Amino acid sequence: MSKEESRPSDAKKVCKDFPKFINFSQLCRYTATTEECVQFGQKWGLFPKSCLCPSCGDILDKVHFSRRGNSTQARFRCSKRACRKYISITKNTWFEGAKVSFRKSLFLAYCFVNRSSYDTAIRETSGPRFDDCETSTKTVADLYSYCREVIFESLYCSDEVRQIGGANFCVEVDEAKFGKRKFNRGRVANGQWVFGGICRETKECFLVPVQDRTQETLVNLIKKHVAPGTIIRSDCFKSNECLEREGFRHLTIKHSENFGDRHTSAYTNIVESTWWAVKKSLCSTHAHTQKQHFAAYLAEYIWHQQNVDTKCKFIQFLKEICKVYPGLDA
Ligand SMILES: [Zn+2]
Repeated sequence: MSKEESRPSDAKKVCKDFPKFINFSQLCRYTATTEECVQFGQKWGLFPKSCLCPSCGDILDKVHFSRRGNSTQARFRCSKRACRKYISITKNTWFEGAKVSFRKSLFLAYCFVNRSSYDTAIRETSGPRFDDCETSTKTVADLYSYCREVIFESLYCSDEVRQIGGANFCVEVDEAKFGKRKFNRGRVANGQWVFGGICRETKECFLVPVQDRTQETLVNLIKKHVAPGTIIRSDCFKSNECLEREGFRHLTIKHSENFGDRHTSAYTNIVESTWWAVKKSLCSTHAHTQKQHFAAYLAEYIWHQQNVDTKCKFIQFLKEICKVYPGLDA
């Protein structure tokens, strides 16, 4: 750690040389005061650096702090006599309308990213540094679900989808039904169908809940999530034509086994263990009982898969927030 970094009071200097990753104690230092919290948020694009006065159109870039009850408000202010306008810095941001302080939201997001248990999250975000109050289980649940929504929006609702595979890469696609089995055996009665694929070489994957499993739906999903030219291995398609028309090479799994592919059995294990991991992850959170949250939990699973480097995860998450909530500056 450099000398510069260890001077928490000099927030401007700290912001100038932000590291590529942030651990818990660094986050504590960067957000020691409300002013530093705002600087931190502006540095990472979570808050706008300025806004226009809705009355006179002047650029307002000075943040005004005022204490209200237990919390501090941070607002842009137009001090012109005719305007007297205040615009909250959280307007149009992920933090708008949050019932807890910016600092607490940020630390709960940190806990979410690091997959902390509710108990840990409560312990790490309670006390004098955090609004002087104990974090409730409901607060953690709410914040975790807002975090999941950000990831879901970022993964599925933006125009740019990170495609897996590519020329000379092989992606195996498969469909599976998720849901609770009676006494853990037998057929799944009321479940959710999921279509997904895993790249053999990179282990990157996509998973999407589907309403129907027609060839058209599945081909469209492959076109969206898999790069053109990829070798697709699956048993989901009755004929090769529909995929080859779209510029993919299609091999059925049985077909390639017949031709003595020595990797096949090992590879099938990877696919199966991934499905199993997803199921296990979803079942432990009981997401399968709430269909409307299913997609968000799937997105969370994928996001953690795509961001294996735990050191950079939090920064990556801040970037996802900015992507979904560009704020006033954009
Ligand atoms: Zn004004």
